[in-house]
Amino acid sequence: MLARYFDNAATTPVDPRVREAMVPYLGEECGNANSIHSFGLAARAAIEKAREQVATLIGADDPSEIVFTSGATESNNWVIRAFEHVVTSPLEHSSIHDISRSQLPYGEAPFIAQYFDLQSVMWVNNETGAIYGGKGPKEFDFARTAARFHSDATQAVGKLPVSVDGLDFLSLSAHKFHGPKGVGALFVRGGVDLVPLLVGGGHERGLRAGTLNVPGIVGLGEAARIAIEEREQDFVHASQLKEALLREIQLVPDHRVIVTITSPFILAVSFSGIEGETVVVDVDRRGFAIGAGAACSTGNNRPSHVLQAMGIEPEWARGTIRISFGRFNTVDETVALAKALSESVAELRGIVR
Ligand code: PMP
Repeated sequence: MLARYFDNAATTPVDPRVREAMVPYLGEECGNANSIHSFGLAARAAIEKAREQVATLIGADDPSEIVFTSGATESNNWVIRAFEHVVTSPLEHSSIHDISRSQLPYGEAPFIAQYFDLQSVMWVNNETGAIYGGKGPKEFDFARTAARFHSDATQAVGKLPVSVDGLDFLSLSAHKFHGPKGVGALFVRGGVDLVPLLVGGGHERGLRAGTLNVPGIVGLGEAARIAIEEREQDFVHASQLKEALLREIQLVPDHRVIVTITSPFILAVSFSGIEGETVVVDVDRRGFAIGAGAACSTGNNRPSHVLQAMGIEPEWARGTIRISFGRFNTVDETVALAKALSESVAELRGIVR
């Protein structure tokens, strides 16, 4: 079943090793990480181990720079709202796009970013797989000129080599790399001021109060540990799956790959004349899960702000689907998906015409 799930950019299945690591913390390991008895100390030790694992995964020297959150939406909202003058581009995820006041067209940001307190640039785009980060701190596609720099690395962490070198803040979510949902982190560089998100209890260096989600954080830590060991292997695997899919898709007439050089984990492709959501439903009937644009923005019927900003014509934008790979997909199932997809497109076009 898991091999037929191709919507890993929306969320990934929890790795069985992650689930196993979490189970004790849903049972006898019941302590509050702030309690001083042995149950509390055990929970605290597990939290600090996870903090180290996440720090190692993203190349943070000091684990205390990792603040646990409920996920990337929270991390993104927090950092964007903390600064008055923030510059982003229209390519960002809606958890940044919908709350940032200044958005600059693709090419303009480098020139006027010096007037801003914070610049935010995503590492990998969740709709297209386009890569903007990762070539070193000064080599983002957008030059760094604002005083502080944040990257939403939700689609990159655990998949591509990610380092906080040169960054002040970085957001991530566990469930995008085979960890549990509802837990993530914000990297906050030591010595950089950030207004607390939640107060009352002094947790997380006084930046985010509230009893810690111990099972979730342990799961995030284990997902990070596995990613440190297996990321390169997962990357090669995803590249092979994407190649296999592209080989088959080349045979479908009137298609368009939205961005060609991308993260191997994401492929956005459009078939002219049919709606992306119709394809998703039809392919689901054939036993495969894929995505239509960004899962977070479906249901609102608006064309994707990202595809619009990229200048993709509305008819191609409407036909866009997103296939995203993970650790549990196989080449056989990918080829089977490609066949289902091309049959689906042919049949739907037959109905439309
Ligand atoms: N940023 C990006 C790039 C994403 O892909 C997502 C998830 N679609 C988020 C932020 C938000 O993550 P979460 O839903 O886990 O808060």
